[in-house]
Amino acid sequence: MLVVMKAQATQEEIQAVCDQIEQMGFRAHPLPGAQRTAIGITGNPGEIDRGSFEDLSGVADVIRVSKPYKLASRDVKEEDTIIRFPGTDAAIGGQNLAIVAGPCSIESREQAFAIAEQVAASGAQFFRGGAYKPRTSPYAFQGLGVDALKIMAEIRDQFGLRIITEAIDNETLELVADWADVIQIGARNMQNFSLLKHAGRLRKPVLLKRGMSATLDEFLMAAEYIMSEGNYQVILCERGVRTFADHTRNTLDLSIVPAVQKLSHLPILVDPSHGTGKRDKVLPMARAAVAVGADGVLVEVHHQPDKALSDGPQSIYPSQFAVMMDEIEQIAPVVHRTLPRGIRVETGAA
Ligand code: PEP
Ligand code: MN
Repeated sequence: MLVVMKAQATQEEIQAVCDQIEQMGFRAHPLPGAQRTAIGITGNPGEIDRGSFEDLSGVADVIRVSKPYKLASRDVKEEDTIIRFPGTDAAIGGQNLAIVAGPCSIESREQAFAIAEQVAASGAQFFRGGAYKPRTSPYAFQGLGVDALKIMAEIRDQFGLRIITEAIDNETLELVADWADVIQIGARNMQNFSLLKHAGRLRKPVLLKRGMSATLDEFLMAAEYIMSEGNYQVILCERGVRTFADHTRNTLDLSIVPAVQKLSHLPILVDPSHGTGKRDKVLPMARAAVAVGADGVLVEVHHQPDKALSDGPQSIYPSQFAVMMDEIEQIAPVVHRTLPRGIRVETGAA
């Protein structure tokens, strides 16, 4: 159920509707839009009597939402969600493309700084590196943990880049939330509902990667888990799915971008690194991702990929990243987008 407020509804009127919803034992999710505020209702086991709201002042309409995802749906919010980073000009969603780059794993301070310096020089606004790695083998490099989080915080101070890193469980979630600007939830955890709910109780943006075999509905329902707890800052990320095709590590499903955009207001990035697993396929698919209308791309970059402790074969060189930025910059206007170069950080907002 969705309560649509009149365009001129006051804050007090919106609050009164929320109070009424909470008094009924349900949860109210006011989502302000450009024209009007809509209030999503969750936690109701069945139909709610429309009459409970129709007569409240400021209410324009009461609508039944038929889709299983409500807060992630365009029914609740027509306009695209834009996630902003206070004190900077960076955003994910909206007119500007968001470019996320960095190594799969933070391996050392030197490695991380070498890569950060070069991706910042090419104009990336977001630096992503793994501190906690969900590896297929328990014997593979598991990440530097808190030390990596500290290195990334230094990188934010030095280059202004906003930091994205993965949390793999409820314990690392708290740590990542303390240090990073965006919490990544990886493909393997897309249906870890306990983790999704915990992330929903935080007030930090969450980058949610598509599960290896998740359908569109399952993907949006995972986002809904986070939003149902009150965290509406969800960024979706397509990273390829498992298919019979074996010329790439995964099959990058670019058609999910327009499919998501039709149903949901949430921004969606594309990760052609995990999506292909092969360095020579990353640039072509990054170009395609922008052309298809993605809100940005996430790529793995390493200055010495042959020595990388994880995902070396799919990591592009910093020189290739520079080429990718030039190419994306040219494609962007065709799809009515702009590629910002570099991040502007207000003094005191590091
Ligand atoms: C990663 O981003 O390094 C990663 C492990 O990605 P995914 O969860 O998409 O496999
Ligand atoms: Mn990786």
